[in-house]
Amino acid sequence: MLNWQNYISWIFINTVVIAIENEIASTTSIINNMRHFIIIGWISSITVLLFISSSFFSQKNNISPVHSFQKDTILIVSMRFADNDLLLPVGNKITEFYHIPVKYIQGQLPQEAYLKVRNRYDASTIIRSLHAINKAGYRFVVGLTSEDISMPKNGTPDYGIFGLGSLDGSGCISSVKRLKKNVSRRQLQERLFKVVLHEIGHNYGIPHCTNTDPCFMKSADGKVATVDHEPMYMCVSCKKKMRNG
Ligand SMILES: [Zn+2]
Ligand SMILES: [Zn+2]
Repeated sequence: MLNWQNYISWIFINTVVIAIENEIASTTSIINNMRHFIIIGWISSITVLLFISSSFFSQKNNISPVHSFQKDTILIVSMRFADNDLLLPVGNKITEFYHIPVKYIQGQLPQEAYLKVRNRYDASTIIRSLHAINKAGYRFVVGLTSEDISMPKNGTPDYGIFGLGSLDGSGCISSVKRLKKNVSRRQLQERLFKVVLHEIGHNYGIPHCTNTDPCFMKSADGKVATVDHEPMYMCVSCKKKMRNG
């Protein structure tokens, strides 16, 4: 791609070429020619280096196009996620269930999401921040945190929740904070699997399940007992609602 840096380098190269031609034409002495060739050689080398480096930086600064491997990958963002032993198992579970590879990065919970009175983070604000960092066009950005998260619900502005996922596919956030009470690591992992798979289900466009069949897309309504009761799969009807592409 020809940008202004390449354009300037191109003009510079042309100027040098013209200068070489003029030098050869005007100089008759061999010694003078050699001296001029050394100087011109130096200028040419610097020009070539400038040209290469400007191309390198212009490529680096460009927002890279959406490659299929990014569109078909979920980005997992660890946001003050202290339960690191659960990170890889969650990623593996996502790949196993949705047949999509994952990538991991470290991130920060956005300061504007912090609700000081309850020491919670507003889940919608977190999702917006996840959407904003998805410049590379990953399929979804999945946030994981050990902090408490909330959303306005049942007349409360900061109702504590396990997770939140947007139906428009902009991302989701899950928290282990409310899943931890009086359980083993194995049980905690199982709960987190269900919550994360549920939130990603929303990202795939699936609303809460109203079927009588067992399904993890049912609303847990803030109860860990509901999460424990859920299976590790979604019902046939929800699977049909899954938006692909
Ligand atoms: Zn839900
Ligand atoms: Zn269902």
